[in-house]
Amino acid sequence: MAHILPPAMLGILGGGQLGRMFAMAARSMGYRVTVLDPDVQSPAGSVADRHIRAAYDDEGALEDLASGCAAVTTEFENVPADSLRFLESRTRVSPSSACVAIAQDRILEKRYIAGAGLAVAPFLAVDAPQDLAGDLAPLLPGILKTARFGYDGKGQVRVATPEDVHGAFEALGCRPCVLEKRLDLETEISVIVARTSAELVRTFPVAENRHEAGILDVSIVPARVTPDIAARACEMACALAEAMDYIGVLAVEFFVLEEGGLVINEIAPRPHNSGHHTLDACAVSQFGQQVRTLCGLPPADTRLLSPVVMVNLLGDIWRDDEPAWDLVLSEPAAVLHLYGKASARAGRKMGHFNVLAETVDAALEKAEALKRALR
Ligand code: ADP
Ligand code: MG
Repeated sequence: MAHILPPAMLGILGGGQLGRMFAMAARSMGYRVTVLDPDVQSPAGSVADRHIRAAYDDEGALEDLASGCAAVTTEFENVPADSLRFLESRTRVSPSSACVAIAQDRILEKRYIAGAGLAVAPFLAVDAPQDLAGDLAPLLPGILKTARFGYDGKGQVRVATPEDVHGAFEALGCRPCVLEKRLDLETEISVIVARTSAELVRTFPVAENRHEAGILDVSIVPARVTPDIAARACEMACALAEAMDYIGVLAVEFFVLEEGGLVINEIAPRPHNSGHHTLDACAVSQFGQQVRTLCGLPPADTRLLSPVVMVNLLGDIWRDDEPAWDLVLSEPAAVLHLYGKASARAGRKMGHFNVLAETVDAALEKAEALKRALR
């Protein structure tokens, strides 16, 4: 595959924080960037060379994007697969529409992962009420999740009894769902794979993820799991990328079970919140890898240069005013990243900071202290 080199124009669907960090990585390498996003004020649009303000299925806008860009990627999985197919007929696109289609639907995703011989939580695909007619007991207590458009714990209901499941299915609008058994988790980890071809694949060191109210709160890297679990997670993530013939950056979330097992929770066909530490703790970030894989270049070295803890900054800490950024900016070990979003809402991802230290424990201690101070 021919390399796409600076100052080529690269395109991205989606103008959120992931698109913004992609654009910043690309521009720092000398590429130019066009963002397609319907919002007038978007985090990525404000740092891109060009912002096409149009819907993701606007054919004229897609035509414009394709004709102006040497390659196009996406920052989120909910772009219409048809839009990606349209772009694919006109320019280089990664990840492929086929890979995005799998990742945007929990039913396809789980079937695909299980079909590749990799472990997932026991589940039942629920398209209609009659799919709930059988014995649900083996999947209870469980979680009913909408097959599409769920994120940050949205579109999920915890269920304990078959009656709960029926009620939850209705409450979720009788949309296609998966009923998943609730597992006893020791911890959660993730692996970010950068894959340009079968020969050119690298994984970043495993991140350990803590969630609060269904939203990622803190990522700790390297994860405090056994070397065996870390190695198996990387192997499983690579095996999945291989099975999908995935080109680009793929994030794979895992559950580490109390009894020691490892199952894949879900995947994201893009950089992931649990990879934001790579901005400061690796030579090339996950966004730099997104640029490189999109351009047919080999993924760069993924070594962790320092233990690091990433803390998400949600809109909740914006009260009447901006949070006291002085606290973070006065800490030499911390690096602040804000996404330039116009308004803060509870649960909205507004930024993050990374704390680097000699040890994970020291980084975690400093990170927790800053987190408390910002509340
Ligand atoms: P989202 O797309 O919102 O990230 P996830 O499926 O990753 O959805 O679920 C969000 C979080 O809910 C997970 O990170 C985990 O903490 C918890 N969770 C989800 N499914 C299960 C499960 N089957 N067993 C235990 N905890 C779960
Ligand atoms: Mg998740």
